[in-house]
Amino acid sequence: MSMLDDTQAYLSDAFDALGFTGLQKRLFQTPSREVKVELVIERDNGELAHFIGFRVQHDNSRGPYKGGLRYHPHVDLGEVNSLASLMTWKTAVIDVPFGGAKGGIQCDPATLSLREQERLTRRFVDAIHEVIGPYTDIPAPDVNTNGQHMAWFFDQYSRLNGHSPGVVTGKPVDLFGSAGREAATGRGVMFAVLEALRHDGEDIRGKKVAVQGYGNVGSWAARLLAAQGAQIVAVSDVRGGVQSPEGLDLAAVDAQVKATGSVVGTPGTDAITNEALLVMACDILIPAALGEVITADNAPHLRCRYIAEGANGPTTYAANQILNARGVTTLPDIFANAGGVTVSWFEWVQNIQQFQWTEAEVNSRLEDKMRAGFQALVATAGRHRCGLREAAFILALERVAAATRKRGFL
Ligand code: GLU
Repeated sequence: MSMLDDTQAYLSDAFDALGFTGLQKRLFQTPSREVKVELVIERDNGELAHFIGFRVQHDNSRGPYKGGLRYHPHVDLGEVNSLASLMTWKTAVIDVPFGGAKGGIQCDPATLSLREQERLTRRFVDAIHEVIGPYTDIPAPDVNTNGQHMAWFFDQYSRLNGHSPGVVTGKPVDLFGSAGREAATGRGVMFAVLEALRHDGEDIRGKKVAVQGYGNVGSWAARLLAAQGAQIVAVSDVRGGVQSPEGLDLAAVDAQVKATGSVVGTPGTDAITNEALLVMACDILIPAALGEVITADNAPHLRCRYIAEGANGPTTYAANQILNARGVTTLPDIFANAGGVTVSWFEWVQNIQQFQWTEAEVNSRLEDKMRAGFQALVATAGRHRCGLREAAFILALERVAAATRKRGFL
């Protein structure tokens, strides 16, 4: 099964729970628009290079399309479709006034210089600028893109359409970005975990946490959970991982990343592979890298009690069934990593109002949204006697369907 099949299967269970049939199902399974563009840039050595970019707009009944842009060799139409659909359900679960979209460029940014990435980003804006906009579709960072890419995006779009800071979120703080946006997804994961533990009458202090993926989401989740008293027992990136049973010194991990570009070889740690990290004994496992890493093969062997999905689509449908049967509590992606898009909303609001919020205000409003989101999931799970992931899809579908109906469709 592909990632798109998994997303459709989760959705299909929600259709069944709500008694949706034929046309309704097709409406919510099918994206509104799929855009595929050819991008040609000049490499630094003067040669031409050729790439394919995508933007999929899934649903905008609750507000403008919204979702990140990823630069990765695996980006294809199926994956972008799946991720765009997840954004529709994510913005509905966390109740921000956006729909769902996703985009990306099939490329390996590790082989591209910064100047080449800039040219690629600008060509992408040239190719899609007619179908996006501050009230139409608002991109943001995702895998391998960051504030710098968003700054180029904003600049190129504004050259074509006039000053438009609200066309993209996740911008640098000194170029119309929001305080707290960079850490927001990881901070949201932290709030999700704290809320789930509080609900179960447990304490974060001393809990063992393993984090797969020490990028923007995973590293912030690790740092913020450590600051709450958790022990981060392992972290990893594409090159491999490090572990320490007493808890890693994250300042040392950060220094290693700064010096070498990877967590691998951090002094005072032992090595661990990505595969071994997923099945190590811990209280909370945070997959925060790519999709489809928890599968029917490794799900029977996972030794965590909670999974907090920092990544999008990390758990296949078959793995989810195994984990449900084993009583592992999953904080699903469309809730657990919604802190990013929530603070994207705050950034967009500040751009539109030409106003700035303090970081304390952003963080406290984010906490309110994550807590409310968790409570809504628990209530839905109680009503439908299901797990939190199933509840998330049901809640999201109810909200999107209500908006669609009131607009006059359905
Ligand atoms: N790429 C992030 C996500 O998957 C953020 C999206 C956004 O802020 O629009 O949720």
